Parts: sequence; C-alpha cells; structure tokens
Amino acid sequence: MSGKKINIREMARPCIRDLKPYASAKDEFKDFEQELIYLDANENPYDNGLNRYPDPHQMLLKQKISEIKNVPVENILLGNGSDEILDMIFRVFFEPLKDNIIINTPTFGMFKVLSGVNNIECKEVSLNNDFQPDVKAIHEAINASTKAIFICSPNNPTGNLMDKEAIKALLEIGILVIIDEAYIDFSEIKSWNQELENYKNLIVTQTFSKAYGLAGIRLGACYANSEIIDLLKKVKMPYNVNVLTQETALKFLENNKVTEQEIIEIVNSRNKLGVELAKIGFVKQIYRSDSNFLLIKVDDADRRYNELIDSDLVIRNRSKEPLCENCLRITIGTSGENKTLLKRLQYLDGLKK
Ligand SMILES: *Cc1c(COP(=O)(O)O)cnc(C)c1O
Repeated sequence: MSGKKINIREMARPCIRDLKPYASAKDEFKDFEQELIYLDANENPYDNGLNRYPDPHQMLLKQKISEIKNVPVENILLGNGSDEILDMIFRVFFEPLKDNIIINTPTFGMFKVLSGVNNIECKEVSLNNDFQPDVKAIHEAINASTKAIFICSPNNPTGNLMDKEAIKALLEIGILVIIDEAYIDFSEIKSWNQELENYKNLIVTQTFSKAYGLAGIRLGACYANSEIIDLLKKVKMPYNVNVLTQETALKFLENNKVTEQEIIEIVNSRNKLGVELAKIGFVKQIYRSDSNFLLIKVDDADRRYNELIDSDLVIRNRSKEPLCENCLRITIGTSGENKTLLKRLQYLDGLKK
C-alpha cells in the first residue's frame, strides 16, 4: 500500500477538474421505472434495431464485465478500443507543453504517438537486459513535471510479464502508473485490476481485441478507483461505444467458454512453435512469452522479414527498436498458419546450408 498522500483531483489538468460532462436526456431519466416515450434526441422514431443512440453508460455490458473481471462497475470505464482510453488518460491528466510521462522501451508504440498528439514530453527509459523496468533509471528520469509511468505487461513487443516487485516500487512513488494489460489473458498471473483498493494511483487498461477475438468491434476497458473513472467520464464522448459493439460484446461474453478454449490452444501453439523455431539455424534466440506472440532474434531480421513477405507471410520486423536488434515479432496463428510459417522458415534454413 502506498504511504504517500495521493490527491487524484489535483493530478488532473486544471481545465478538467470542474468540467461538466455532456448530459443527454437519457442520463436524467435513466432511473425511471416506467416505459418512457423518448422525443428528446432527434432520432428517427421507426424501430430498425439501430435507430436509438446507445446507452452512454453501457450498463448491461459493464455489469457483465464486472462479473467476469471481478471489478465493481464504478471502477470500470469502456472505450472504443483501449487506444481511446489511453487518449482519454492523456487528455485528463497531462498538461500540454508542461507535463511529461515515462515509458519503458521497447514498448507499445501508441504511448509515444499519443504523447506527440497531445504535446506531452515522453521520456524513454530503457528496460534492462532482461526486458524488466529499470526502477533506478526511472527514479532518475522523474522530475517535478512527471505525471505518469507507463508499463505494458505482458509487454509488446517483448512478450514478457513485468516484475511484480518492480511495479510495486513504481506504484509507491505516488504518481500515476498505467499498466497496459492488452495480453493479460494469455498469462498465468492475475490482473493488477485486483489491486485497485491498495493503489489509488493505479490505472489498468485491457482490450477485447486480442484474447477475446473482437478486434473488429473496438472495445477496451479501463479499471481504476472511482475518482479516476469519474474524471475520465468528463472527457468521454457520450456515445463512444456503439450499439453494435455493446450487443456483440455481450453476446460473446455470455459464452466465455469459447474464448477460454481458444486461449488454451493459442498458448499451446505458442509453446510448440517456440520449440520448433529453436531448431532453425538462423534463429538465435526465442524470448520468453506470456502473450500470443513470440519475439525471436535471427541472423538478419531485414532479410528474413523480406523473404517471408516474398512467400505471402507478414510478420513484424522490430529490429529498429531498442534492445531488439535483429528481432522479429510473430503472432501465433491457427495451427495451419503456424505450420506454413515453420515450413517456410525451415526451407529458408535449408537454402543457407
Ligand atoms: C493491441 C494493443 C492495444 C490495442 O488495443 P485496442 O483495444 O485494440 O485499441 C493496446 N495495448 C497494447 C500493448 C497492444 O498490443
């Protein structure tokens, strides 16, 4: 538990603290029990299933997510992908041209893009050689204008979980710590969203785009204490999660068994693929993965990347990232797709000999 006095309101940008969020008539009358005739929002009255605006609070969906994730509804905010949620965090907490944030590289590219879009200085602190946060270097990078530390765990593109003790040490500093858990469902540990009561300065983001197989509907979730959630609600566009997304997500989450089975298969395929890749001569290293992709080091990343493209296989060349010289990132596909990839790599390996 953080001993520091944390004042969330004072962490927010002054222009946001007293901002009144947009209120629709549906907000004002949401607690009425009887059926109401809505002539308030200039919608087309003829029912086609989509003629009404979505529930701005996504109550049914949040209740379902609350059950699955074991987080109270008041600690959840939903967004059009977790990318939108990250952008909301920037706009609520970081003052352009004044505040700075710390990211731990190599990491997810959106943190830096959002810093650029929002005119926030982004300090890059390198992970250590084990791809873990360098707590001492982070301390040294922090100054009076540092508002947050971004952690991605399991990290993209390295694939590994971040050390629990390191994260705890960063939370103890008392500034915001945002943990992007886009790949948490592939890992063995429980989410940091179970620690919200212990850390007021903790924000956890997750997505339904990866393990849940719903990248197409754009749905992300944010878990934090209710003061943070209420601040984020002030900048949230009222109808940011559309009707089709809310309905589709609810339908999929009702039948969670399929997702659970798919996660097991993906993790098994990942482990198998890792074993096979290790036998290929030009593969120099396979890094530990707690996610649905593998980061591998090869003899010549640009060459191997292009050779795969020549056979219609697209992976990600991460060799320009810090600590990732000659590294490729491979998403785990279906067993058929993984087989095709392996065959191609084995062929390329044979060519060299
Ligand atoms: C894919 C990814 C996301 C994007 O999530 P969306 O919900 O699809 O916007 C966020 N963070 C990380 C680390 C990712 O790899």
